[in-house]
Amino acid sequence: MKRKIYSEEHESFRDIVKRFIKDHIASDYSLWEKQGQVPTELYKLAGKQGLLCPSADEKYGGSGGDFLFSAIIIEELYRQGFHSVFFALHSDIAFPYISELGSAEQKEKWLAKCVSGENILALAMTEPNYGSDIANLQTRAEKKDNFYVLNGSKTFISNGQIANLVIVAARTSLDKEKPHKGISLFVVEADTLGFKRGQKLEKIGLHAQDTSELFFENCKIPTANMLGAEGTGFYSMMKSLQQERLVIAIGAAAAAKGCLDLTLQYVKERQVFGKPLSHMQNTRFELAEIATQVQLAESFLDDLIPRHMAREDIVKEVSMAKYWMTDMQSSVADRCLQLFGGYGYSLEYPIARQYVDARVQKIYGGTNEIMKEMIASRLM
Ligand SMILES: Cc1cc2nc3c(=O)[nH]c(=O)nc-3n(C[C@H](O)[C@H](O)[C@H](O)COP(=O)(O)OP(=O)(O)OC[C@H]3O[C@@H](n4cnc5c(N)ncnc54)[C@H](O)[C@@H]3O)c2cc1C
Repeated sequence: MKRKIYSEEHESFRDIVKRFIKDHIASDYSLWEKQGQVPTELYKLAGKQGLLCPSADEKYGGSGGDFLFSAIIIEELYRQGFHSVFFALHSDIAFPYISELGSAEQKEKWLAKCVSGENILALAMTEPNYGSDIANLQTRAEKKDNFYVLNGSKTFISNGQIANLVIVAARTSLDKEKPHKGISLFVVEADTLGFKRGQKLEKIGLHAQDTSELFFENCKIPTANMLGAEGTGFYSMMKSLQQERLVIAIGAAAAAKGCLDLTLQYVKERQVFGKPLSHMQNTRFELAEIATQVQLAESFLDDLIPRHMAREDIVKEVSMAKYWMTDMQSSVADRCLQLFGGYGYSLEYPIARQYVDARVQKIYGGTNEIMKEMIASRLM
């Protein structure tokens, strides 16, 4: 069923995205999973077809589209199970830091190449000892003449190997009572002396994602690379999290829909006890419940996406969507996998990939426990 939030223009764009996935992602994806990353060339191909940063201004080579174009890219990648292609991190999570906080010179320097895919972005907030408690992060940035000297490390950074521009949150001052006030944001160019990439982390899923540690050892960043004013980084991060969490929720609902579609097809074909698996009452009830949850998720998103586009403050509602939809996605992937029996446990079947890739959605972008804290603090 077509969703009312999408116009014909959006649906035509969806066809372009589907074709791109078929031509440039589907057949090589298993190889990329073995290699632990997607090729940087994929970003350039996507850039050529207008699939990166769809909201970017025309003067940077973008199409000035609305957020719904981004939503379509996310939906198609997640529905089809290509979760490791982190175009959304690049286009919808990291890119807005530069397009919204950047000075005219910074935008001129970096944005066009983000749209073309020559620049690949990463966002580095998390540290080995500070994930949820981001206000206490320890990476230091000390001002010396026209530079800030960065020292510290980050972990779990998506696109950590392939990114050539990393937006880094670092501490420029410390007020022990209000540690969040001393955080600033920097664009670190990967060829800067003292910037080092650690190993790709081995994970239970997202096998084509190059999640990595990053190290900064007396890494000299020009003051011109600071994003926004000194000390305002925490506020910028909090502001951008509404979109980051909405992106995760959109992916979660689409992945759950993808699991449902795969399973509907399988249960019609699989014979058990002399009849199709789809005839068993348990199968019918499972799929009825799953379809209901997917429908509820889409309806909630159809309310939230336009409100987000109208720049409403919907932090509470988006936190609800992020936690509920990623929980739902994980449970749906598990229930659908069960209907595949042993085949569901085999990586040859896409449902297995949906299952392992779902798990992290409850953790990153703010854990689901942190989401509940955010909701509760806005209730009481
Ligand atoms: C595959 C992957 C990709 C990632 N990509 C990025 C990225 O690109 N950039 C980036 O900066 N980070 C990234 N992260 C990091 C991610 O955002 C963090 O892992 C996440 O924020 C949780 O932080 P933590 O791992 O330190 O867990 P912790 O903060 O140590 O939490 C451990 C547990 O304690 C719970 N907890 C913590 N505080 C509270 C509280 N106040 N109340 C109740 N429970 C609490 C948590 O919910 C969790 O269950 C990624 C992580 C993964 C796994």
